[in-house]
Amino acid sequence: MIDLHLHSTFSDGMDTPSQLIDKALKLNLRAIALTDHDTIDGVDEFLSYGEDKEKLIVIPGTELSIRHEPEREIEDVHIIGLNIDHNSSKLITTLNKQIEGRLNQKKQICNRLREELGYDITYEEVKSIASNTIVGRPHIVKIMEKNNPDKVEGKTKNELFKMISLGGSAYVDREFELNFEESIQLIDESNGIPILAHPGIYDVSNRAKFIEFCVKAGIKGIEIEYTYAENRPYINTDKAQWAQDYFPNFYRKQAEKFNLIRSGGSDYHGKGSNKIINIGDSSVPNEYLKDFI
Ligand SMILES: [Zn+2]
Repeated sequence: MIDLHLHSTFSDGMDTPSQLIDKALKLNLRAIALTDHDTIDGVDEFLSYGEDKEKLIVIPGTELSIRHEPEREIEDVHIIGLNIDHNSSKLITTLNKQIEGRLNQKKQICNRLREELGYDITYEEVKSIASNTIVGRPHIVKIMEKNNPDKVEGKTKNELFKMISLGGSAYVDREFELNFEESIQLIDESNGIPILAHPGIYDVSNRAKFIEFCVKAGIKGIEIEYTYAENRPYINTDKAQWAQDYFPNFYRKQAEKFNLIRSGGSDYHGKGSNKIINIGDSSVPNEYLKDFI
């Protein structure tokens, strides 16, 4: 088994890159990839700690968030870049700009929650519970819940996420963010493989057509196995099991149709963030590895 979608403390995960490697070894996984959000800062540690582990192949990667373009149905889409050259100077400069835009956005969302919607929340407090450089929506939701029990009463976690996501009452756009094609190009230029992350979670009118669009835009791979039942938007809904059964088969067929590289992973963020997901949970077969090594 392999797992090509993992987060560490360098974005919003709970384990360091070395801890991910130790856990994967215990589980007898054959390969893992580090795919932190909009950063490759953990890759050095990941590769050097993994270098002498003969039983485990470590693959450098990242997960890029893409500029929202509702008119093209690109909303909250993520692209994974696997096997990227983490020393590429263009990649480093662009990701730094992307992170700055991401942090500014989170700051503004906190301000909006406080000033317009009356939540007891500051960016400083949200930042203080983020383990590293990246402040994400889960951190904001945590403080919304912790400091505002009355205001969040009767609201599900999903509803709180929606408030701070595109179209939500506290949402603010990012100042700098690559669009879909630019993100694919950046990964290409860094010698990586651009892979469409968790395609089943996107709210698009025609799933097959959306894949065709992605292929035309330059996507070379697609995640097939994924923890749909344990992730938004299906977690704790009556569609959880349906999503888990339906999407991997659907996207396997799409991969065949468009001759796409197959990938997959758990999207593990560590215990405490999402307790039910473990490394290796999506049972990605070893045979996918041939496209990455
Ligand atoms: Zn992820």
